Amino acid sequence: MEDRPFTDASFEQFLNEEKIMGSRCKKCQALYLPPRPVCIKCGGGDMEWAEITGKGRLAAFTGIGIGPSFMSAEGYDRNNPYCSGVVELDENVRMDARIEGVDARNPETIKVGTPVTAEFLHRGEGDAMRTFPAFRPVE
Ligand SMILES: [Zn+2]
Repeated sequence: MEDRPFTDASFEQFLNEEKIMGSRCKKCQALYLPPRPVCIKCGGGDMEWAEITGKGRLAAFTGIGIGPSFMSAEGYDRNNPYCSGVVELDENVRMDARIEGVDARNPETIKVGTPVTAEFLHRGEGDAMRTFPAFRPVE
């Protein structure tokens, strides 16, 4: 896997394998998620893959009533919104993802700072398979 290019396509391929992978600059240790081929801090182009644990805290969230078609297909709409959020990961990088296991209809019950852990939602099959990262509050 170390041979994969540091692109969004590789990032999505790793998601299909249930891994969240970022790229880390070998020179200054800066971590990028999604992965970048060149470090924007030091300009270095020598990167390595770094697996993200998928543990973090909810940093921000919003309820979404009109989302992508696969979400509509799952029955989410204006009356049944789902929650999309930003997670501050233990590795000090942020990631946008769907937040599962929360009540998006009652956003006052959702708290910034809640510890969350990653899970993977697979949609489609074979070459058409896409995997969407999601986070769920830790019990
Ligand atoms: Zn760097």
